[in-house]
Amino acid sequence: SSSTMDLGLAGRRALVTGAGKGIGRSTVLALKAAGAQVVAVSRTREDLDDLVRECPGVEPVCVDLADWEATEQALSNVGPVDLLVNNAAVALLQPFLEVTKEACDTSFNVNLRAVIQVSQIVAKGMIARGVPGAIVNVSSQASQRALTNHTVYCSTKGALDMLTKMMALELGPHKIRVNAVNPTVVMTPMGRTNWSDPHKAKAMLDRIPLGKFAEVENVVDTILFLLSNRSGMTTGSTLPVDGGFLAT
Ligand code: NAP
Repeated sequence: SSSTMDLGLAGRRALVTGAGKGIGRSTVLALKAAGAQVVAVSRTREDLDDLVRECPGVEPVCVDLADWEATEQALSNVGPVDLLVNNAAVALLQPFLEVTKEACDTSFNVNLRAVIQVSQIVAKGMIARGVPGAIVNVSSQASQRALTNHTVYCSTKGALDMLTKMMALELGPHKIRVNAVNPTVVMTPMGRTNWSDPHKAKAMLDRIPLGKFAEVENVVDTILFLLSNRSGMTTGSTLPVDGGFLAT
């Protein structure tokens, strides 16, 4: 969909987390199509096998990002990375009064702590090599609005928006830009799990000025823009891909 705009991503090396399904998988395919080398990090081995079959040359890393030690180990020899997409996340919905320790721990470990950890590893490599870089954190409209049963998810994404600003502050002097994309609902496996009920979907659609959910390609195009030098003066931003939801 970006065929007329050369984003200048050819020859650069990217790492995408949560690459097995949904937005992450499509981001890997788009980066490969743009001529980038791609390291694909995800949890389910079969998803990565399938991705490599479809897209030979993709470098798979199979790890549970909730496990700090396993992640440290899996990425210890990851090599040079110029572009990072922190996309992996879980959405475990519970009413506030029924939120469990397990949902809190898993969600904060994957959606927030792993972003810190993977970004440290990648940014240290960029700084050591003396090269500029770009990082995109996949947040959500849920970072900035209260949504029924989304206590833990909204809290992780609110924290991710602030983490994005902190990383922009401290990595900017090293010429590393850090931005977030904040999509509305997208009908990936995660979106289908949580938004297939037509009544629930309608209530959300009624709050979106454009009256529709986002397509995966809308999100992928925005991620690639924020990774590219076309957004060279933008850092610390949270860019909605939400049909206007956050404007209301
Ligand atoms: P998805 O369909 O559930 O895909 C998520 C991918 O992340 C899967 O490949 C999953 O692997 C991987 N992942 C999850 N936990 C992991 C872990 N602990 N270690 C390694 N990999 C892990 O989700 P999506 O809809 O594409 O979401 C991608 C991003 O967009 C997330 O940050 C999400 O919060 C955000 N977002 C989604 C929506 C939406 O409506 N879909 C809206 C706004 C924002 P496994 O399946 O093997 O666990």
